[in-house]
Amino acid sequence: MATIMHVDMDSFFAAVEQRDNPELRGKPVIVGGSRDSKRGVVSTCSYEARKYGVHSAMPIAQAVKLCPHGIFIPGNHKKYAAVSRQIRSVFYQFSPLVEVVSIDEAFLDMTGCEHLYQSLEDLGRAVKRKIFETVSLTASVGIGPNKFIAKLASDYRKPDGLVVIKPEAVWDWLAPFPVKKVWGIGKKTAEVLASWQVLTIADLRQCSQESLIRQFGKQGLTLYLLARGIDHRQVEPGSEAKSLGRETTFVTDITAVSKLRQVLADLAAEVGYRLRREGCWARTVTLKLRYDDFTTITRSTSLPEPINNDDDIFDIAHQLLVDNLGQRPVRLLGIYVSQLTPFGQASLFSDPRREKLTRLMDELKARHGRPVLYKGRQLPLDDPDLSE
Ligand SMILES: [Mg+2]
Repeated sequence: MATIMHVDMDSFFAAVEQRDNPELRGKPVIVGGSRDSKRGVVSTCSYEARKYGVHSAMPIAQAVKLCPHGIFIPGNHKKYAAVSRQIRSVFYQFSPLVEVVSIDEAFLDMTGCEHLYQSLEDLGRAVKRKIFETVSLTASVGIGPNKFIAKLASDYRKPDGLVVIKPEAVWDWLAPFPVKKVWGIGKKTAEVLASWQVLTIADLRQCSQESLIRQFGKQGLTLYLLARGIDHRQVEPGSEAKSLGRETTFVTDITAVSKLRQVLADLAAEVGYRLRREGCWARTVTLKLRYDDFTTITRSTSLPEPINNDDDIFDIAHQLLVDNLGQRPVRLLGIYVSQLTPFGQASLFSDPRREKLTRLMDELKARHGRPVLYKGRQLPLDDPDLSE
């Protein structure tokens, strides 16, 4: 059974403003536009403002009517994005499988990590605590056996909530929710269901699979499953870039392993440098080989932990080269890395001296616009005694 966590920051933009401007605390803060904004829409409002009926997506003009003494702020998205990145870095301390849903919301797949904590409540508290220590903001956390339950759970006790729904509790817990809480049920679907006297998830369970499919098509089956707490969607760790890499075509085809090894070392250094500059780690390394007859193969290795050090990239690519080279002359050689994540835990798994050296090499390369220090494996092997 999977363990999925949904984390949702509490009235995120408004909370950041209240954090940084103590005079705003305890006041109805509405972020989205200034008071006289004609076209502005509320993007977030503090819980104090919600008491007056203000909510996100509401025109500012309407919010002014509901809450005339509210404090209206256009908002500073650059700042919110920076805070969001800090929060994301906390997520990656708990799981490499993070799906960022929006600037203030993410799913974490914690499956297999449960034993590290006394209980799932402990896990939720640990994440909330770490977020608060890092950005001084509260989050609401929901934990359940899938995304649907986790998201519903994080919303259940906002703000500063923590709700854990065990698999065996899902059935009863879900039953009383109004159908509009089911993912994918919008106003129109809810209206059709209401005309059938289907108002709650318990009611929805009374509908046959056939009738739901007849009415709603493919979505009908999803509704049937979600009503039973079944949701097969995976947490999908995305990233800005899907992969990056570097390849080189030779002027004359190369057969000598020693020469290929040296080129591979250069490629690894370039790919590693680009990864680190992007602030990324990679979980998959792919070797691309094109032979003299233009047949091209790619071979990949995926890792349990993300990497971004040249040594690791080289070692894996070199092993792939050794395993796949054969006797044929090579026309093109390339290294690609994929399954990128914005954060890794390299320092936990590798030699700090090596990381320090890498940082030094990167700084020099950035300063001079070209590599200044080289690893031994990158040097040409002119001395026959050194050749393999
Ligand atoms: Mg939120």
